[in-house]
Amino acid sequence: MTAILNTPIEYLKGVGVQRADVLKKELSIFRYADLLHYYPFRYVDRTRFYKIKELHAELPSIQFLGRIISKEILGEKRTKRLIAHVKDDTGTLELVWFQSLKWVDKNLQVGSVYILFGKPTSFNGRLSISHPEFELYNPAVKNTGNLTLQPVYNSTEKLKQFSLDTKGIQRIQANLLEIVLLAISETLPEYLLRKNQLISRKQALQHIHFPASQEALDAAQDRLKFEELFFIQLKLLKNKLVRSEKFKGAIFEKVGDKFNAFYSEKLPFDLTNAQKRVLKDIRLDTQRPVQMNRLLQGDVGSGKTVVALMCMLLAIDNGFQACLMAPTEILAQQHFQSIVSLVGDGLVQVSLLTGSTPPKSRKVIHEQLRDGSLDLLIGTHALIEDTVQFKNLGFVVIDEQHRFGVEQRAKLWRKNVVPPHILVMTATPIPRTLAMTLYGDLDVSVIDELPVGRKPIKTVHLYETQRLKMFGFMRDEIAKGRQIYIVYPLIKESEKLDLLHLEAGIEAISQEFPPPKYQISIVHGRLKPAEKDAEMKRFVKGQTQIMVATTVIEVGVNVPNASVMIIENAERFGLSQLHQLRGRVGRGAEQSYCILMSGNKLSREAKIRLETMVRTTDGFEISEIDMQLRGPGNIEGTQQSGTLDLKLANLATDQKILIKAREQVIEIFDQDPTLSSPENILLRQFLERSSEGISWNKIS
Ligand code: ADP
Ligand code: MG
Repeated sequence: MTAILNTPIEYLKGVGVQRADVLKKELSIFRYADLLHYYPFRYVDRTRFYKIKELHAELPSIQFLGRIISKEILGEKRTKRLIAHVKDDTGTLELVWFQSLKWVDKNLQVGSVYILFGKPTSFNGRLSISHPEFELYNPAVKNTGNLTLQPVYNSTEKLKQFSLDTKGIQRIQANLLEIVLLAISETLPEYLLRKNQLISRKQALQHIHFPASQEALDAAQDRLKFEELFFIQLKLLKNKLVRSEKFKGAIFEKVGDKFNAFYSEKLPFDLTNAQKRVLKDIRLDTQRPVQMNRLLQGDVGSGKTVVALMCMLLAIDNGFQACLMAPTEILAQQHFQSIVSLVGDGLVQVSLLTGSTPPKSRKVIHEQLRDGSLDLLIGTHALIEDTVQFKNLGFVVIDEQHRFGVEQRAKLWRKNVVPPHILVMTATPIPRTLAMTLYGDLDVSVIDELPVGRKPIKTVHLYETQRLKMFGFMRDEIAKGRQIYIVYPLIKESEKLDLLHLEAGIEAISQEFPPPKYQISIVHGRLKPAEKDAEMKRFVKGQTQIMVATTVIEVGVNVPNASVMIIENAERFGLSQLHQLRGRVGRGAEQSYCILMSGNKLSREAKIRLETMVRTTDGFEISEIDMQLRGPGNIEGTQQSGTLDLKLANLATDQKILIKAREQVIEIFDQDPTLSSPENILLRQFLERSSEGISWNKIS
């Protein structure tokens, strides 16, 4: 960084010790550079004059021209205010001041024309503007007013006390730019600027704060967003490159007997094309002497487990052990059962290891792992304990990626001298841009096709008033021998109320569906694990037809005969949660249904969520919409990730820029993997500066 940008903020004209203190505390602005990178969060368009008729309460601050036609001071003491009326050729509008009445009274003249600026608000159905800025209109001066886009900065109460409201920040930004502009150096190679039609960093920083026009602002934002995303990709792909040089991987030479026996004798169905494609990807990966790090995305039921199993067989055929780690005991058990039932007896030695494995069996497993007689281990976090040691671990499958911390994943792959190949599976599809950013250093495979013959789940949205219809439908389905889930929200912030709803719901259902004809399972977080288990088991065995539950069933349970998912208060669930819940049904041959129950009053976003669920079952489409609605930082599974602390770029709206940036980085590494060509010197320097922070634990 150039020296001047490193100057402590108190030395800036207009700042000083006191304000510097507040800037540090409130905005973490310590040095000139920090202020320079404190960008406006929006801009006020002062290039345009509105007509009074056009104003409404949804507009931001706007400017307009008008003649003051009346002015009076009303009220006493605390209710004292100045009310004025302003008129143009389309209408009149009320203006209100509660402060500085004397000054306003003196400067605002009835009969004169002003340029006014402020935010229209609606009070009791009447439109008005409080505390507008005003400036006498002078028709002799053509460019009257401030004909630019004005930056608006986030400020705080504390900052405002020190005159650092948005105007104040504008002032010190202007002071700063005046002295540092020449010192702003370029971070991107010249050829990249040319190729991507980007403006210089100097211009960009100037125009991000003080855009001369909308076009200038767009160009500044494009440039800075590109830079932001480009450097993230540069780091990610550099990691990937380094890792592939540093970490050798086991070569799986052959496709052997166990794989072939399974494929030709045991696999009860044809693989989908998507499954075949993923297997091919992984086959190629494991033929190279480089550790594989691959993310496998696919909706619930798309057949990821089968693919994982076949990869593990491949490892076993080549003399390695394999393991599969799941985030919960139930899931681990289910994987174990379905894998045992798929591979049958004798083909491979499989065991299950979880927190509740008794010490005796645990000991046996430990021994068999060490002497190599155990081929395949399935389990929970218990797998990463230090006591678990493999003879020759070659392939690791991690299910439900985001529930494990990065540290935990790293532990697993350190379990072998040559690190095992890693396949991370997630059933929570995430948008492509998010995957590129969060998992940009992994290879990604996608299963985007469901097995043939699967009937898409039919989804309807019913309002509270249509509840009888729902009961009728439930009776019909139960009469056909089907089972039904009813799920209630249980959210920490409103737990008491939620539990009341749940109780009332259980009561109503018990009345509508009385024993002995109907049996109901009830599962919620307040139950002891053993009770929960017993209730689940009754439903799994078909002894109960209805399972009323809170979201505990979100992960896990696979009951193919359950064909109806009813979600109560569906408006309160997020999209990805709704999608996950719906994924609990549609696992058998029967037509399955999802009923979303909601109140009559819905927010705009809730409406979009429910409409989306009714319209599509495609998890990727749903995740895109989820990101549009909530922003990338709130997508499930991404909260812990610092990668998403983007200043300007937005993964929901800047897809094109991200894809372009990534393509550029790929191209650069293709041509100059060590970045040693002179034109890439800036990039090499960037990586050298940031490499101190790279920790290999970050890589799964
Ligand atoms: P995921 O792990 O992606 O949720 P699974 O691998 O558990 O999906 O598969 C869901 C169900 O579909 C399982 O019962 C599995 O046996 C079955 N299945 C997987 N692949 C196919 C296929 N190609 N054709 C038919 N059924 C399949
Ligand atoms: Mg699965």
